[in-house]
Amino acid sequence: MKLNGNYARLSDSYLFSNIAAKVRAYKEAHPDEEVVSLGIGDVTRPLAPDVIREMSAATRDLASEATFRGYGPEQGYAFLRDAIVRHYAEKGVVLRADEIFVGDGAKSDLGNMVELFGRSRVLLPDPVYPAYRDVNVMAGNSIHFAVGNGRNGFKPMPPYGKRFDIIYICSPGNPTGAVYTREELKEWVDYALATGAVIFFDAAYEAFVSDASLPTSVFEIEGARECAVEFNSLSKSAGFTGMRCGWTVVPSELADGALNKMWLRRQTTKFNGASYVVQRAAAAALGSRGEKQCRESVEYYMSNARVMHEALTAAHIRHTGGVNSPYIWMQCPKGMTSWEYFDLLLNKAAVVGTPGVGFGRHGEGYFRLTAFGNAEKTARAIARLVEVTSSLK
Ligand SMILES: *Cc1c(COP(=O)(O)O)cnc(C)c1O
Repeated sequence: MKLNGNYARLSDSYLFSNIAAKVRAYKEAHPDEEVVSLGIGDVTRPLAPDVIREMSAATRDLASEATFRGYGPEQGYAFLRDAIVRHYAEKGVVLRADEIFVGDGAKSDLGNMVELFGRSRVLLPDPVYPAYRDVNVMAGNSIHFAVGNGRNGFKPMPPYGKRFDIIYICSPGNPTGAVYTREELKEWVDYALATGAVIFFDAAYEAFVSDASLPTSVFEIEGARECAVEFNSLSKSAGFTGMRCGWTVVPSELADGALNKMWLRRQTTKFNGASYVVQRAAAAALGSRGEKQCRESVEYYMSNARVMHEALTAAHIRHTGGVNSPYIWMQCPKGMTSWEYFDLLLNKAAVVGTPGVGFGRHGEGYFRLTAFGNAEKTARAIARLVEVTSSLK
């Protein structure tokens, strides 16, 4: 058999299996203790009532011949793409429905889009959402990192003097919770235009931005239509991690329209769309009532983030995020490695987080906390974390 040798170059990710094994061992040794996880990157709140109602109505459509639906339109149903166009219009971004491609979430498109570009030099942030790295290893691309650190607030800026073909940007960022300002994002857009790069902008966390001065779409930036593709998802904003629905915006200006045509060709050849039922649910999540209901869950999570952010701030524990992002990225105390701190927290506080080194070399010495849990448990966990961490000083 001839195998794609690039897969052998993937570094094995033991991150989440290591965490699970350590937590299991701790629970076996301490069966009566409550272990609280601030590590989960998955939503926990139920779907909005309007989403459930629309999904049920759509299911009933499929029960009779008169309203039955089979294969849907190539880029997604018009009712959903129109809802997405309105979603962007609310922030002053004008898109055409034929620039929007509905899919089964952002992760697949963030990976699949790579194949339109052939062998590429790719620039990724470090710390990074690991899928960006792995899809480019699989494709045999040459991977370079723009380093995020305490000095740049985990917002790496363009490496002037160097050129790349593809640049990934995630804002608000997973895992660091950092959010680019308009001016910073403009620098990236200008750099991409000047060097002929394409920006893959991951807006999966846009709903968590409450500061109106911060951009929630790359297309709020002048020039982005000539250099950027945007990936978005209802996973985090509407609790769709299990439902699966997202969209990708490929502006008609990119490569004089060639990229939009290529992506359409790629999707119609290799993908047959998200289900009718899920697209109806997605349109409901973007409708005015549904969006308000989804916002309540986002606010629930952001209240968790605020509780954690305030507790860490009061204890003078250095961190970013937690303000316009459900992630908090904290510095490990006393120069500890991220796994040392993980072990300490688990054993002394029965709290679980995610070691930063799992997100790249420059994540070493940092720790990710998430706001996606239950409010009471989150409050208890952060109090225990602060107590154990402060007692080290
Ligand atoms: C959760 C997440 C997504 C969304 O992925 P889906 O496939 O839509 O569930 C995209 N990007 C990042 C960085 C994420 O953390």
